[in-house]
Amino acid sequence: MARDVTVDPPRLEIRNLAKSFAGKAVVDDVSLTIAPGNVTCLLGPSGCGKSTTLRMIAGVEMQDSGTIHVDGALVCDTVFRVPPERRSIGLMFQDFALFPHLTVGANVAFGLTGPKAEQEERVRHLLSRVGLEGYRDNWPHELSGGEQQRVALARALAPRPRIMLMDEPFSGLDNRLRDGIRDETLAVLKEEGTGVLLVTHEPEEAMRMADEIALMRDGRIVQIGAPYNIYTAPADKEAVAFFSDIN
Ligand code: ADP
Ligand code: MG
Repeated sequence: MARDVTVDPPRLEIRNLAKSFAGKAVVDDVSLTIAPGNVTCLLGPSGCGKSTTLRMIAGVEMQDSGTIHVDGALVCDTVFRVPPERRSIGLMFQDFALFPHLTVGANVAFGLTGPKAEQEERVRHLLSRVGLEGYRDNWPHELSGGEQQRVALARALAPRPRIMLMDEPFSGLDNRLRDGIRDETLAVLKEEGTGVLLVTHEPEEAMRMADEIALMRDGRIVQIGAPYNIYTAPADKEAVAFFSDIN
């Protein structure tokens, strides 16, 4: 007997995104979807078009063609465009620093609206979740790089975005800290149910963090699949060479 099945729309769905600069295709017909609570890694060598893809999703770069949906709602096509701040998208970029003139607590509260007491509770919850409950009144420069990164995560998550876009967010951290912060970041994102698109050029980072890897080269996605499947059956010789860097 047939059963009614309710299927949630993907957190993020991009279809046929394309962008050229000076006649050169930098993003060429890129499509992918991210389910609620899932982490997709956009993995590929430097210059292949990863950041440009993220910037179009964030709304700070306009695509030449293609569509972007968040939770089933159209956010952008070539005629209709929701502004970046109303896309329910959180950003964590390598060069997207904390506000130096605001305390840790004020940084986390920055994107929040609504009753003061609820804002304070959200800030308290997130700071405690990233292990920084005692740091609300500290200044960013008083924190280590890893601690600042955890504040940046709390700040990005505070308004409960549906999607989190992360562009090489861990590349500024030293190796000793990186694994711990990656794991902790994943745990917090999973708990919040946020869909994540994480850009990286490091196969090892994608293998560690992704539910799904989208392998990108020269502006195109050449393979999408679970990390194990991509690692054990790369699409072509170039993909094999790219993964052979993992040690
Ligand atoms: P990745 O993040 O994978 O390293 P990017 O998306 O930053 O790659 O860049 C892809 C290509 O597009 C590069 O060749 C880069 O120089 C070019 N590019 C990116 N943004 C612009 C721009 N605003 N104007 C001209 N070229 C750009
Ligand atoms: Mg980049």
